[in-house]
Amino acid sequence: MSQDTQNPANPIAQTLNDTLGVQKRAFAQTPAPTVQQRIDRLNRLHNAVVDYKDRLIAAVDADFSGRASAETEILEILPVLEGIAYNKKRVKGWMQQSRRHTPLMLFGSTTKVHYQPLGVIGIVVPWNFPIFLGLSPLVGALTAGNRAMIKTSEFAPRTGELVKEMIEATFSPDEVTVHTGGVEVASEFTKLPFDHLVFTGSTQVGKIVMRAAAENLTPVTLELGGKSPAIIHESFPIEEAAKRIAFGKGLNAGQVCVSPDYILVHRSKLPAFTAAFEKAMTGQYPSLRDNADYTAIITERQQERLEANLQDAREKGATIREINPKGETFDGTRKMSMHVVTDVTDDMRIMQEEIFGPILPVVPYDTLDEAIAYVNARPRPLALYYFDWDKARGDHMLNATHSGGVCLNDVMTHVAVDDMPFGGVGPSGMGHYHGKEGFLNFSKAKGVVRKGRFNPTSYIQQPWGNSMYNFYMRFQYRRYRKIG
Ligand code: NAD
Repeated sequence: MSQDTQNPANPIAQTLNDTLGVQKRAFAQTPAPTVQQRIDRLNRLHNAVVDYKDRLIAAVDADFSGRASAETEILEILPVLEGIAYNKKRVKGWMQQSRRHTPLMLFGSTTKVHYQPLGVIGIVVPWNFPIFLGLSPLVGALTAGNRAMIKTSEFAPRTGELVKEMIEATFSPDEVTVHTGGVEVASEFTKLPFDHLVFTGSTQVGKIVMRAAAENLTPVTLELGGKSPAIIHESFPIEEAAKRIAFGKGLNAGQVCVSPDYILVHRSKLPAFTAAFEKAMTGQYPSLRDNADYTAIITERQQERLEANLQDAREKGATIREINPKGETFDGTRKMSMHVVTDVTDDMRIMQEEIFGPILPVVPYDTLDEAIAYVNARPRPLALYYFDWDKARGDHMLNATHSGGVCLNDVMTHVAVDDMPFGGVGPSGMGHYHGKEGFLNFSKAKGVVRKGRFNPTSYIQQPWGNSMYNFYMRFQYRRYRKIG
């Protein structure tokens, strides 16, 4: 469907199409935004986030029925501001044309790669970080000189509406727009012929989105989920590993794409790990129900899913240890305590689906090779965490496994590094953004040959077999004779 198509039968599609048309026409009029224009857009976004910061934090808190404000600050607001500052400093350098090697036949020409904005980027946002996962791709898109349309998540509606208000106060509709609404909007949105589409969400919906994008041959960046393992080497101090894991798993009550999904621990250390993890969690969250530091579950549906998965594990023989220091009940709230699950088997849903909540299965292994084989027998995860002070074994782990990103001796902190690509592999996603990789992702790397007045190809062109051609080919075959 083209952006000029009239579709009175579907007003949602019509509105989205119209907006895309407006942005595409504006882009066609200024197809090469200067460094200054890009920095101006990034500055406007920066100021908007600073101005709206407190309201954004309150909106996320309301959407979650309790989200730790420090989590919104440190995992959403700050990373957006840091990303903007990082990109502003480097955008001029990234935009430079890159000179390339010129082959002999083009002697006298210059060969360069130009980094051209693609046009209009579509951005689909999930609920778990409803600010950062909309604005961070936007930072990349604007740095690369594009315009953008953002679809927010229906499960974080207050944040969605506020982000919409903020963007409308900051950008003209031909620069950036925000679209709220449910699946019916999301579905039409992903059918639009964007120049690139960034989808952050589940692997299951990612497949639907990629199918819709395929109709327009719209390239996609898919930022999906999966089961990110944390492996603890037998020699690693178990209390230290447990503390570092508890810090990450506690964030957003485990509702993070790169949250440690399950732990692989040496069989001899399993009881020590579960005890140390409980101690660390209790230290972080001495109480849960009215503790503003401990985030709630986003919706009742998600809470029911998590409870049902625990019940499934229980029925199939798992041992479940609830970490609830004060023995509180949570009726009337969406708080849910952390659960450590042992004696797990492959047929349990918690070992098949991404957990995305406060449940932590712990799986024993006997040899490191066995732990590696366990990870490799499953879909490639978004992140992998390995705790081991031994560098050689750490390097071996990096070579022996595939994942979107890795933290050695920690969890999740790799996402905070602007100077590294972020993205999954296989079922956990495709494509990268953040930093320079984000700029490249949202640019067309266009190879350009500029020929001068002297035209060397004219000496060897048709009719083929002329003496210059024969000389040239003899010369080349001598260069490229058989090796060895
Ligand atoms: P989701 O896939 O249910 O929804 C994501 C977005 O897709 C929403 O905006 C929704 O409106 C839209 N959507 C839903 N159905 C659609 C359809 N049929 N067609 C087009 N769009 C549709 O994901 P969620 O529950 O919001 O988020 C949780 C998932 O996101 C987890 O799997 C998590 O791992 C993943 N995630 C990944 C990253 C990452 O950076 N890789 C970050 C955060 C979350």
